[in-house]
Amino acid sequence: MAFDIGMIKAVYSKFPSRIEAARKAVGRPLTLTEKILYAHLTDGEATKAFERGVSYVEFNPDRVAMQDATAQMALLQFMQAGRNQVAVPSTVHCDHLIQAEVGAVADLDKAKDKNREVYDFLSSVSNKYGIGFWKPGAGIIHQVVLENYAFPGGMMIGTDSHTPNAGGLGMIAIGVGGADACDVMAGLPWELKFPKLIGVKLTGKLSGWTSAKDVILKVAGILTVKGGTGAVVEYFGDGARSLSATGKGTICNMGAEIGATTSIFGYDEKSEAYLRGTERGDIADMANAIKAHLTGDDDVYSNPEKYFDQVIEINLSQLEPHINGPFTPDLAWPLSKFAAAVKENGWPAKLEVGLIGSCTNSSYEDISRAASLAQQAVDKNLVAKSEYTITPGSEQVRFTVERDGFLNIFENMGGVVLANACGPCIGQWARHGAEKQEKNSIITSFNRNFAKRADGNPNTHSFVASPEIVTAMAIAGDLTFNPMTDSLTNEAGVQVRLDEPNGLELPPKGFAVEDAGYQAPAEDGSTVEVKVDVKSERLQLLEPFMPWEGTDLTGLKLLIKAKGKCTTDHISMAGPWLRFRGHLDNISNNMLIGAVNYFNEATNKVKNQLNGEYAEVPAVQRQYKMQGVGSIVVGDENYGEGSSREHAAMEPRFLGVRAILVKSFARIHETNLKKQGMLALTFANSSDYDLIQENDSIDIIGLRDFAPGKQLTVVLNHEDGSKDEIKVNHTYNAGQIEWFKAGSALNLIKAGL
Ligand code: SF4
Repeated sequence: MAFDIGMIKAVYSKFPSRIEAARKAVGRPLTLTEKILYAHLTDGEATKAFERGVSYVEFNPDRVAMQDATAQMALLQFMQAGRNQVAVPSTVHCDHLIQAEVGAVADLDKAKDKNREVYDFLSSVSNKYGIGFWKPGAGIIHQVVLENYAFPGGMMIGTDSHTPNAGGLGMIAIGVGGADACDVMAGLPWELKFPKLIGVKLTGKLSGWTSAKDVILKVAGILTVKGGTGAVVEYFGDGARSLSATGKGTICNMGAEIGATTSIFGYDEKSEAYLRGTERGDIADMANAIKAHLTGDDDVYSNPEKYFDQVIEINLSQLEPHINGPFTPDLAWPLSKFAAAVKENGWPAKLEVGLIGSCTNSSYEDISRAASLAQQAVDKNLVAKSEYTITPGSEQVRFTVERDGFLNIFENMGGVVLANACGPCIGQWARHGAEKQEKNSIITSFNRNFAKRADGNPNTHSFVASPEIVTAMAIAGDLTFNPMTDSLTNEAGVQVRLDEPNGLELPPKGFAVEDAGYQAPAEDGSTVEVKVDVKSERLQLLEPFMPWEGTDLTGLKLLIKAKGKCTTDHISMAGPWLRFRGHLDNISNNMLIGAVNYFNEATNKVKNQLNGEYAEVPAVQRQYKMQGVGSIVVGDENYGEGSSREHAAMEPRFLGVRAILVKSFARIHETNLKKQGMLALTFANSSDYDLIQENDSIDIIGLRDFAPGKQLTVVLNHEDGSKDEIKVNHTYNAGQIEWFKAGSALNLIKAGL
């Protein structure tokens, strides 16, 4: 589906020399992760080694993928860059906005109607700028990418945290914010802190009830939700080579649950089989020609302790099926211990719903193995005791598994096939009765199980397992059931056992699809009109931010002195606000509403210095903006931690805040602020935070000589007429100072500078 063979050829042609240069620069054999990263350096062949966890390095990714919720702002920004076409192959996938309610067809129709303006915008902007557009119903971003675009040795960024799914086919694939996607589409390099490396050696072979999902459920239990932070997890060993490409995808997908930058497997026969199975034999041929470059060097895998920062070993032959949860994906229970855990913790044993599929687990292998259990239920006169839903990851998978009779088997068991979309995985689930907030249990083959994620009910105990275990549990309707050891009573009162699941990695008759749901972009998009209704409350074209006026900033009113934790969620909340992600003015009404005001310990209540009254943060800031008065936000440590959400930087800029002055920044947010032309400053002496008073007017002095490494001066004009003068630091390099002067990085790109 329009994968770019020329691009892949060009990438592969650089591999031999670039990897050789990297080996020389680093002075030792290389892991696969290092090979791919060094092969994608913006500066070309490596001349020096980068320090893991320390060096910031610029890369040229090969692709960009965006889902519909995050693509809106990414593309609105891209429109500001003044480019005619995207610089690298890019795609948009309409998957997040479809609500599951009754079943695939009706739910999809309803979503198309409800989200028409968003889909029309994404479709037209994709058409104009050379972006592949996957319509609603085409599938979930990561499954569609794996089937069509992922390639061994490639590098991709995606505006979704489960982008690492493509690591199953040997790609470095990393989740980013929309501003990063915009930059790469505009042809700019992308910066990443050179990651640490965790090696996971897999030995043995899966069998029986155990599946690839159990590998990552086990790893999540070992590393916890934070254990992969700042690291790439590289899997290797005989066990790794025995896993299907889609099984590897499941493992890499859920690397996001341990906080990993991404996860990856090397190229092997299973990757080749999947590429050929998805009609990409030409890529398999090219990959075979440079095979040695698409896995780690021999010594790396023989002596992993020498090369990885941490090594974990898992024997697949001994691995038990796992069930993780509730409320967090790292609470890992081997199946044999799960029933006792359910009883001891008082979790509801009655299983209400089993949900299989999603981007994480809807491969042909997953579906065929789950269907083998559903067929047994029918054959053995068992009636599923729980509700059961199936979410195919793509239309290609759905069409194929329907053709091969699996969907029919699920329906015979009472299953409901949902749209090829995120649905219940992202809270797009009109679950009947969820509003009563009753304590209940569900089990899914998805990846995340945080409170409220699936149905908004904080009392829903959500567990994560393989599609096979989910199916067996749904048949039993009981979380204390262990399909490996327990019997069930069928409709005739006879005790029956479920045999081990079985399935096929790839469809024997090949994949098939009638309409994959793909819209290729126009050859020449210059005349394509981008559709945005000026009256829309969900979409708004962006206006460029004003350039710096060339003077120091004086008389800035203190908008808020935020106390303690101030994450991107505090600055730009999610939940109901997601609806306005494409409308900067409307979403700005959530600006800093979660931040705690130092002076009254309240959220969303700050003093308006113009009239002395207390009001909501966005309302006060809008008053300042209307009166042409600049303002400043003061914050504590690690301001802006959390996600890479660019709205958290755009909103203050849009509403007229001129500077953010904090004890320290989360780096991604700091960069986002710089990109939007905001002044991002830190106290040279962090105790100066205490000098800031509620009625301060603040001057920032020294901007005419704004230079890398040079401090600025901040004057705090207190209400009683006294003053404090303090020094502040910044981390702007020369190029970033130009962003500030131009009003934003995009303004500079547009000016062609
Ligand atoms: Fe994210 Fe779930 Fe959609 Fe996958 S199915 S992309 S995890 S929301």
